[in-house]
Amino acid sequence: MGKVLVTGGAGFIGSHFVKRLLQADDVAEVTVLDALTYAGHIENLGEAFLSPKLTFVKGNILDIELVDELVRRHTAIVHFAAESHVDRSLFEAGNFLTTNVLGTHTLLDAARRLGVQKVVHVSTDEVYGSLLSGWAKESDPLRPSVPYAASKASSDLVALSYFQTHGVPVCVTRSSNNYGPQQYPEKIIPLFVTRLLKGEAVTLHGHGEHVRNWLHVEDNCQGIELVLRAGTPGEIYNIGGGTDLTSQQLTEILLRICGAGWDSVQYVPDRQANDLRYAMDWSKIATSLGYKPVRALEDGLAETAQWYRANPGRWAPLLRNPHTSTPRGSIPAM
Ligand code: NAD
Repeated sequence: MGKVLVTGGAGFIGSHFVKRLLQADDVAEVTVLDALTYAGHIENLGEAFLSPKLTFVKGNILDIELVDELVRRHTAIVHFAAESHVDRSLFEAGNFLTTNVLGTHTLLDAARRLGVQKVVHVSTDEVYGSLLSGWAKESDPLRPSVPYAASKASSDLVALSYFQTHGVPVCVTRSSNNYGPQQYPEKIIPLFVTRLLKGEAVTLHGHGEHVRNWLHVEDNCQGIELVLRAGTPGEIYNIGGGTDLTSQQLTEILLRICGAGWDSVQYVPDRQANDLRYAMDWSKIATSLGYKPVRALEDGLAETAQWYRANPGRWAPLLRNPHTSTPRGSIPAM
């Protein structure tokens, strides 16, 4: 695979992916380009810095000169960098459009002018919107409900247009909700775990009936690596195969793992445009690329909670950080 540029590699999924990539013998170099926003932490890369193959560059994907310089030196790009938290997008949509849409354009345009062998644009099942029944296929229409999902849907379209118009060899992956160690404690699993470990209450939207598919971050990274290696340019690949749970069911497991009871749960009114159900058909990546998720949910959640239990130094300071509290008193999103 040669030399891979990974944007957003100091974030949650990107840092897991970088560690995975560094283990591959055919990867000569990995460069992380990350702006280290509130969500990016160099510590997430930890032991990856022991590898002589890793270079870290602090910078913004909107910086055309820097992006050009980096793209010129690499054979492939995996693009994770994004504003990723739904709640924030309800009140700060401009940042989402700038980073997610224009930032993706900056990268794709550099790839067009300078030439790379593969670009993987990492996206989300939220672009399909809420499904009352059935499972979204890659060819289904995009019906994003919230600004985060709209910005990701837009960036998917920009990426695919660069394949159609210019032949840039880009693939799009759309995964369901990821969980695992090192996720920033604003998303529901790390937020609930860290609060429960501190003996605090957690808040559940509506009646806890929202359904999400929970995919271990390593399973998503397996799928992204398969697409990087063998995905067909111009194609979209759904990456799922985790476990479907209502937020009530998820909360029940987290309470058990953290040794807390239902008296630690407060029900709060639902947030606006909280999609009821996301569900994807991921048979395409399974049959065409041999993707097979392997992580069992309860084991993965227990291991995740154990990471937060063992590493309070990594997340407790973030909880004191004003950036961690959800904007304008909104409630935590999945
Ligand atoms: P994250 O918020 O943990 O990490 C995002 C990273 O991007 C951070 O390190 C941040 O510093 C960096 N970044 C943000 N703006 C930047 C900019 N302008 N220039 C350079 N770097 C910048 O996000 P995540 O959960 O790891 O998600 C990674 C990608 O996967 C995103 O594109 C997201 O939309 C997608 N995704 C996430 C999930 C999930 O469940 N977390 C599910 C499906 C898809």
